[in-house]
Amino acid sequence: MESRKPTFSQDTPVQFLKTVGPARVRALTRLGIETVGDLLAHYPRRYFDRSSAVPIRSLAAGQDVTVQGEIMTASERRTRRGGSVLTVTVSDDTGVLFCVWFNQKFLLKHFKSGRRIMASGVVQMHAGRPQLAHPDYEVADPSDKKDGPGLHTGRMVPVYSLTSGVGQHWLRGLVRQALDRMVDLHVDPLPTSLRSRHNLPDRRQALEDIHFPADARAQQAARRRLVYEELFTIQVLMALRRESRRGTEGVVLNKPGDLTTRLVSSLPFQLTGAQRRVLREILADMRSGRAMHRLLQGDVGSGKTLVALIAALFVVEQGHQAVIMAPTEVLARQHGHSLKKWCDPLGVTLETLTGSTPAGERRAILAGVAAGEIDLLVGTHAVIQEDVRIPRLALSVVDEQHRFGVRQRGRTGAAGDSAEPVHVLVMSATPIPRSLSLTLYGDLDLSLIDELPAGRQPITTAIVREKDEAAVWDACRREIAAGRQAYVIYPVIEETEGQDLKAATVEFERLRAEVFPGSRVALLHGRMKASEKDQVMRAFSGGEVQVLVATTVVEVGVDVPNATAMVIHNPERFGLAQLHQLRGRIGRGRHASSCWLLCDRYLAEESFQRIRFFAEHTDGFALAEEDLRLRGPGDAWGIRQHGAPGFRLANPIRDAELVALCRQDARELLEADPGLDGQVGGVVRRGLASNFGKYLPILAG
Ligand code: ADP
Ligand code: MG
Repeated sequence: MESRKPTFSQDTPVQFLKTVGPARVRALTRLGIETVGDLLAHYPRRYFDRSSAVPIRSLAAGQDVTVQGEIMTASERRTRRGGSVLTVTVSDDTGVLFCVWFNQKFLLKHFKSGRRIMASGVVQMHAGRPQLAHPDYEVADPSDKKDGPGLHTGRMVPVYSLTSGVGQHWLRGLVRQALDRMVDLHVDPLPTSLRSRHNLPDRRQALEDIHFPADARAQQAARRRLVYEELFTIQVLMALRRESRRGTEGVVLNKPGDLTTRLVSSLPFQLTGAQRRVLREILADMRSGRAMHRLLQGDVGSGKTLVALIAALFVVEQGHQAVIMAPTEVLARQHGHSLKKWCDPLGVTLETLTGSTPAGERRAILAGVAAGEIDLLVGTHAVIQEDVRIPRLALSVVDEQHRFGVRQRGRTGAAGDSAEPVHVLVMSATPIPRSLSLTLYGDLDLSLIDELPAGRQPITTAIVREKDEAAVWDACRREIAAGRQAYVIYPVIEETEGQDLKAATVEFERLRAEVFPGSRVALLHGRMKASEKDQVMRAFSGGEVQVLVATTVVEVGVDVPNATAMVIHNPERFGLAQLHQLRGRIGRGRHASSCWLLCDRYLAEESFQRIRFFAEHTDGFALAEEDLRLRGPGDAWGIRQHGAPGFRLANPIRDAELVALCRQDARELLEADPGLDGQVGGVVRRGLASNFGKYLPILAG
C-alpha cells in the first residue's frame, strides 16, 4: 500500500503534497517555501520539550522554560501611551504564570479559558510572580485529547516560523508527510569518508532529527551535520573560485610614479601604521603580476577611503585607470567631492557618475572615460556595471557596505577592455568577525586596519526616555553654540515607510520651529530627489546647516568631522551593525562626541539588552559579533535576502570550530582532486548540484 502513495524529490513543488491548495501555496511562498526541499530546509526555530514541562512553582528568573497548564483568564487593557497589553493567566497544579504580549491584542481570540496551553520563554519575575513576555506558545486543539506521543505532544516538538494561513499543527503534519515520502534524500553532498571522520549522521537521518528529534542529543547531532554541510559547501565553492583565479595574470604595475608620494606628503596628518601596512599588502599584490582579490576590513572611521585613493593613484601614476564604487548615491557623491579635493592639486582627473547624473553629462563622462582622459571614476555599483567602457582599467574598488555582494563581486572585473583581469579591492564598511569573513570572503585575501587615526575623541552613549528629551536638546544646543553640528535620526523601515516618513517630517517641523529656532535645520530622506539630497549634504558638510534630521540614508560612510552630537529615535528598530554605522558618523574629529538613544515606549527585554550592549560598546568587532549572536548571520548580514546557500542553521560565531574544520577539509579535498571528478570529489560535486544547483552560477562568479 505504501508503495502506491506518491513519492517526492527535493524539487517537487509543494502543491503536490496532500492538504496544500492554491491559498496554502501562496502562504508557503511567503516563507520562502516552494519545493519539498525548501520545506525540509525550513528548520524549526526552537522546540517545545514536551517530555519535560517545568512546574510553575519552581520557576526562577532567567530560566528558559516550557510550561504546560490551563488557561484561566485572558484580558486586554490599554496603556497610557495608547498601546495595549494582553495578559493570559495559566495555571498548573503548582501555581499561576502570567503571559503578556504588548500591542498584539489580535491574539486574544486564541486564548479561551479552560483550554490547555504550552508556553516557552525566559522567565521574568514581576511583583513576585513569574511572567513570560511574548512567549512561544501553543493552545491545544480541543480535538487532540489523547496525550500519548505523537506529532504535537509527549516529545520534543518542533516550533516553526509561521505566516498567516500557515499554522503550527498543519506545518508539522506537512513536514512529516514530506519526510515520509521523499525518495532522493540520499543525495548526500558529504562523502562517507568525511561523515565517518567527524561522526556525522547521513542526510536522511539528519533531516528527520532536526524536525522530529527523539531527544536533545539527536537534535544536536543533526544540527551539527547540517551546519557542517552548509559551511562545507561554501568552503568548497570559495576554494573552487580561489583556485580558478590562482595564476590569472593581472595588469603588471612595476613603474611607480610620484602621485602616491605627493599625496601622502600633502596630507595634514600621518597615515596610521595599519594604513601603511595594508597599503604595502595591496601594492605588493598589484606589482606581482597576478590579479589582486583582496578584502580590506576596518572599523568605521579607520580611514579606508584614503587607502582606496592611494591604491587608485598607484595605478593612475602608471598610466592606468581606476574605479571606486559606493553602495549608495549619497556616498558616491560624497566620495566624489572629497576625493576630488585630493586629486585636483595632483592633476588627476576624477568624475562622479550616479543614477541621477543628467544624460548629457553622463555621455560626456563616458566619452572622457573611454578616451582615457578621466583617470578615476567614482560611482554607484549599478551605474558602473552597465555600459561603461574603461579601456585602461587596472583597479576596481568596491565599497561593499555590509551586504553580501557575491553577485557584484563576480562582475567587478568585467568593465575593463584589456585582456588581463583587473585588480579588485573589496572594502567592508562594517567589521566582520574573522570566522564569518573566512566564510563569506573565503576566496579573498584579507587586509585588516586594526587601528584608528590618532587623536580620535571617545563617544559617550546614553539611553534616554522620551519624557526626558528636553535635557538632550539642551545638550545639542550647547554643541551647536560651540560651533558643532548634530544629527537627529529617525528609523524608516521599508514595510512601514509611509508612516515613518510622515512621523519624521512632523518631527522635523517641530524641531525646526520649537527646539532649534535659532539654527538651520534640514531634512534628508531616501525619497528625496538625488539633487536635493546632494544639496542638503553639501550644506551640512559646509557647516551652513547645523542640524540634520535624517533617516538611515546617512548610515554608511558620511564623513562630517565637525558633527559631534547624534540623537537616535527608536533605536530598538535598528540592528546593532546599523546602529554602529550610524554612530560612526560622529566622533570623527578633534572634539568629544555624544550619542543619545531616545526610547519612547516599552522595550521588550531582548531589545533593551541589545540597546544597552550598544550603549556600552564602541568596538565594531564586538558589536558585530553580538549582532551575529543575536540575529544569526542570515538576518544580520542580509545573506538570506540574497538567496545564497548556507546560514540557515550555521552561525559562524557559535560554529567557529566547524568553520575551521570545513575549511581544512575543503582544501584537502581540492588538493587531492581539483576538478572534483574522482570518486569522493564526484559525491561532493553531485551533492552540490543537487542541493545548491540554482546557486552555483552566482557563487561561481
Ligand atoms: P572609513 O574607514 O569609515 O571609510 P573614512 O575613510 O571615511 O573612514 O575616514 C574617516 C576620516 O578620517 C576622514 O575624514 C579621513 O580624512 C580621516 N583620516 C583618514 N586617515 C587618517 C589618518 N591617518 N589620520 C587622521 N585622519 C585620517
Ligand atoms: Mg567609508
